[in-house]
Amino acid sequence: MPDINHHLNEKLLLGYATGSLPEAFNLVIATHVSLCDECRAQVESYEALGGEVLQKCGTVDVSKDALSATLAKIDAGRDVEMPVPISNGVFPTPLHGYVNGDLDAVHWRKIGGGVSQAILKTSRTATVRLLRIPAGTELPDHGHRGTEMTLVLKGAFCDEHDRFARGDIEIADEDVQHTPIAEEGEDCICLAASDAPLRFTGLLPRIMQPFARI
Ligand code: ZN
Ligand code: ZN
Repeated sequence: MPDINHHLNEKLLLGYATGSLPEAFNLVIATHVSLCDECRAQVESYEALGGEVLQKCGTVDVSKDALSATLAKIDAGRDVEMPVPISNGVFPTPLHGYVNGDLDAVHWRKIGGGVSQAILKTSRTATVRLLRIPAGTELPDHGHRGTEMTLVLKGAFCDEHDRFARGDIEIADEDVQHTPIAEEGEDCICLAASDAPLRFTGLLPRIMQPFARI
C-alpha cells in the first residue's frame, strides 16, 4: 500500500457508497479506495450504517414515494462493489475493465506541451481520462467550473499548494486555480475526472480545449 497523504472527502465517499455519482467519478473513487485502507474503511462503515437506517425505516409510516425512493437507494447501494486491492502493474483493479490491460495497452493522444491523454468510455454526465505528463513538465494554469478529481498512479506532481504521489487524490473546484508540475525523474500518470470543462487562463490552451476535451 502506498503512503497516502491526500484523501477523498466525506461528500464524495458518501456519494460513492449510495451510488449517486456519475460513472467517471465512481471510477476514480473506486481506484483510490482500492489503494487506500482509510477510505475503504469509511465506505464500508457508510454501507453498514445504510443497512441499519433502512431496517429502522421499516417500522415507520412512510409515503409511497418515500418507500420507493428508499428502495431505489437500497438497490443503488447493492450495486456498489468493494474494489479488490490486487495489482502488480500501474493500474489498480478497478481500471482494468476500462483499459484492457496496463500502461502499454493505453492509446495515448498528444494534447500539446508534451502531455498525452486517453479518454475512457463512461456515461456522459462526467468525463474521465488518463493523463501522462512528462517529468518536469507544467500543465497549463487553469481554474475549474465543476469538480475535478485527480488521482496519481505513477510519479508525482506538485502545485502551488502541495505534493501528490501514487494514491494521492486532489479535489479541485471553482475556488482552485493552479499550475500542476510533474516532478523530475519520471513521467507522471494520473487518472482525472471532471463534471465540467476546465477553464484555462492562457489563450493557446483555450483554443485547444474543444479539440482535446479537457
Ligand atoms: Zn484515502
Ligand atoms: Zn486542476
